[in-house]
Amino acid sequence: MALKAGTVAAVGGGGKGGVFDGEACACLVRELRQSFESGRTRSYEWRKQQLRMVLKFLVEKEALIVQALHRDLRKPGFEACVSEISMLKSSCKLILKKLKRWMEPQKACVSITSIPGSAEIISEPLGVVLVISAWNYPFLLAMDPVLGAIAAGNAVVLKPSEVSPSTSSLLASLVSDYLDNSAIKVVEGAVDETTMLLEQKWDKIFYTGCTRVGRVVMTAAAKHLTPVVLELGGKCPLVIDSKTDLKVTSKRVAVGKWGSNNGQACVAPDYIITTKSFAPKLIESLKQTLTSFFGDKPLLSPDLSRIVNTNHFSRLTKLLDDQRAFGKIVHGGERDEKLLMIAPTILLDVPADALMMNEEIFGPLLPIITVDKIEDSIDIIKSHPKPLAAYLFSNDKKLEKMFVKQISAGGMIVNDTVLHLTNPSLPFGGVGDSGIGAYHGKHSFDAFSHKKPVLHRCFIGEVWARYPPYNAMKLKFSSSAVAGDIFGALLSLVRCR
Ligand code: NAD
Repeated sequence: MALKAGTVAAVGGGGKGGVFDGEACACLVRELRQSFESGRTRSYEWRKQQLRMVLKFLVEKEALIVQALHRDLRKPGFEACVSEISMLKSSCKLILKKLKRWMEPQKACVSITSIPGSAEIISEPLGVVLVISAWNYPFLLAMDPVLGAIAAGNAVVLKPSEVSPSTSSLLASLVSDYLDNSAIKVVEGAVDETTMLLEQKWDKIFYTGCTRVGRVVMTAAAKHLTPVVLELGGKCPLVIDSKTDLKVTSKRVAVGKWGSNNGQACVAPDYIITTKSFAPKLIESLKQTLTSFFGDKPLLSPDLSRIVNTNHFSRLTKLLDDQRAFGKIVHGGERDEKLLMIAPTILLDVPADALMMNEEIFGPLLPIITVDKIEDSIDIIKSHPKPLAAYLFSNDKKLEKMFVKQISAGGMIVNDTVLHLTNPSLPFGGVGDSGIGAYHGKHSFDAFSHKKPVLHRCFIGEVWARYPPYNAMKLKFSSSAVAGDIFGALLSLVRCR
């Protein structure tokens, strides 16, 4: 689906449909702003009700969601249920359990300049926010930020990815059927619609997608000084030391790469670095694991997603057919254009100037780079932009310490892959080229809240030294007091007498 400006765009959530042009877009934002200004979305009851309704459709429409994900990506039912629906249910339940506490003002300390008084930090909603999501986990990546936006009391427009059209239209109808349509809407469409949305003034934009479009989003946001969260991608490195449990390592690597949407996941390992001497053992073990997971004919395995569309299929086959990668395949390589399937593929010693080593792979190809000493992996990782995730498998505590200290990444796991994003206590987001800001659990609530500091004073406790006309004693007293030096402040009174 590629809707163009001026054609009929689907506006889920009580929108009237019809021509979706700049005026319709502005009108939609005005309507949401009115709802927000009415104060309705700020109440705990409204937030709770919307979250309960999301939970309700996750339960009632589970089969439809699984079907849509299958149509868009041939996503295995297991992955659809576990990685998208259950993740969302868990987010929803956590927010419902904790929201009241998160909404309470936090007490803050009072400095000596404000005694007597009290201080607090209030989490207030930002206003009307825009969520733009990607196609690879099209249900989770659309609804998870929306849950944060609702929890924080905002009105929200969701723009799902047009690359996963079945999920996009299902999202539009679920939002329309279950949620408060005057404050939560879905706009379906592609670049034209997103561009029109980006021209509006938002109170926050939450974008998930590639780094190139992340720049487009941030440029548009800058015009209105709108803050952004950018959940981007990059090449996630995976270092495997010879001091590891090879069997467990192979299973955790294979499930993190191919069991995550057949490699089409932002946190899927993009390339492996290991030592020359360990590589043959590792490859053998990965091959055995892959056969045990997906059988001898992986192109027909029901447990592997297909490549999302022909564009991405051609992009991936181009990486595979690149002359510099030619002859480097040590496992897999099979493809079927009709089925849009590429088998789990391992390549050895792909040169640094190959296409595959210079862009995010985002598919089932996994190159292995070899080094003499495992410590050399650090410099290779540092030669790429900061990744969204970095992984190390090793029993060597010294190496682990060095890896954690020296590698900057959005997130990191030692001795596993991908799992960090299932832990709501951990902020999920990138750093540098892999993103700005983070969400999940309380971090989602915080991402869509303004932390408003409020200082409460009464009319006693006048400090004469803050008022003109100034003199040396007032200067000494005030300087010490503002610096938090009570003793110095008192001393200045004595000395200046
Ligand atoms: P995509 O093509 O679905 O694009 C994302 C969104 O941007 C869509 O809603 C699309 O309509 C919109 N868009 C695309 N081009 C645009 C333009 N020129 N102007 C305005 N809007 C535009 O997704 P994608 O970008 O192909 O997604 C894959 C990328 O996303 C990978 O780099 C992956 O690593 C990253 N990703 C990151 C996360 C994360 O949580 N950090 C999650 C998933 C994917």
